[in-house]
Amino acid sequence: SYRKGGYHAVRIGDSFNGGRYIAQRKLGWGQFSTVWLAYDVQSSRYVALKIMKSAPQFAQAALHEIEVLSAIADGDPSNSKCVVRLVDHFKHTGPNGQHLCMVLEFLGDSLLRLVKYNHYKGLQLNKVREICKCILIGLDFLHRELGIIHTDLKLENILLISTIDPGKDPIKSSLVPILERPEGNPNGGVTMSIVEKKLKRRAKRAVARISEGRDSMVGVRESPKSERCLDGIDMKCKVVDFGNACWDSKQFAEEIQTRQYRAPEVILRSGYSFSVDMWSFACIAFELATGEMMFTPKSGQGFTEDEVLYSSYTGSTMSHGYDNYDRSPCLENDHLALMMELLGKMPRKIAIGGALSKDYFDRHGDLKRIRRLKYLSLDRLLINKYKFSETDAVEFAAFLSPLLDFAPEKRPTAQQCLQDPWINFRNLTLNKAKSESSIEKVGVGMGKLQIKVGK
Ligand code: ADP
Ligand code: MG
Repeated sequence: SYRKGGYHAVRIGDSFNGGRYIAQRKLGWGQFSTVWLAYDVQSSRYVALKIMKSAPQFAQAALHEIEVLSAIADGDPSNSKCVVRLVDHFKHTGPNGQHLCMVLEFLGDSLLRLVKYNHYKGLQLNKVREICKCILIGLDFLHRELGIIHTDLKLENILLISTIDPGKDPIKSSLVPILERPEGNPNGGVTMSIVEKKLKRRAKRAVARISEGRDSMVGVRESPKSERCLDGIDMKCKVVDFGNACWDSKQFAEEIQTRQYRAPEVILRSGYSFSVDMWSFACIAFELATGEMMFTPKSGQGFTEDEVLYSSYTGSTMSHGYDNYDRSPCLENDHLALMMELLGKMPRKIAIGGALSKDYFDRHGDLKRIRRLKYLSLDRLLINKYKFSETDAVEFAAFLSPLLDFAPEKRPTAQQCLQDPWINFRNLTLNKAKSESSIEKVGVGMGKLQIKVGK
């Protein structure tokens, strides 16, 4: 991919946009780009530099992403809406052609990494709640204020924010690479080596602060031995990757979303709107709380007549029974079956209402190729498989279920979710604790009777 039309090869210390940005280390890459931690000499901050491949179709995709990110930045001047901020953009010419570059605020690890470092166990529910709240603030802003649909929400596309001076001191999550780097800069520029030295000094100071317990680690670089390692990490995050985003009034693609997070109306081609993001959001919340994806459709390839698909929920063999006509059901069939096993039968009108409905459903609204479904409600699943307490399961399921309504227009909006009792649960208990303690205080002054009333 490092050829004409492809990625731009970057070396540590390379400078961009007239010397303003200096590459520090690679942060990640995608289909279209490589992303680098860079030092912004002008603002003395770290930024993420996204360098697109140079071929015209990538340049066009980049221009689209810049357009969306600019609308976001204009709509959120105080940068408080839990969506990544575009700082700058420019063109960079290299041996492989001209690359569009986006400069974004530097963020931390993705939620996928967070779940991975937590050994794919569910996070504590109050952490899930905090993360959900951030995502909802971002979605409410995108949907209601800008009319933008993200269309690709998933764990990789939500990044944590450092709580210590966000954007300004990301050095703590990049300590090792900087400390291990040899003195001086590979290109030998004077300015460069000053920057390098400054970086090293800051890195050493940060290490000292952390080891003396004066600061906490922000990024989740080390694999924690238990979830307690995540204690004290404020779970603030932002939505990123607007490469596939669109305006509700100006949609580009029929097939959107990453498969596991894809809403039923997208599979059936019934048209979509903001509520596709709400479906993906529910899938994310489930995954954070359980450590496992809510829907993992499998293709039935290789299945023989007597074999049955193992349900991803129950782990038992009692899942879909495929009839004799087709023993290799496609992913979409399995996906729709999994949805119905968890959420109940899809209403006939919805099942037969899409341009592709005929591929999957008969005229009665039953799946053509999968006959027997094993239903298991969301709260039972949380209790049986993920060992939630009864209360936790019922409350969490009550929050998620409406978001997974087969009728897109019935799903709550991000704004409505922000009012949900589950999202506000912690505040409720805090207030309750507060009012209880004040009753007790009154009680002490007024004698035993009052204390009894307080309890
Ligand atoms: P693509 O559109 O090519 O998929 P992304 O925008 O998803 O590119 O970025 C690719 C990777 O780069 C991400 O998965 C993440 O690891 C990293 N990354 C992207 N933006 C940032 C950022 N603002 N801060 C830190 N890392 C980032
Ligand atoms: Mg991506």
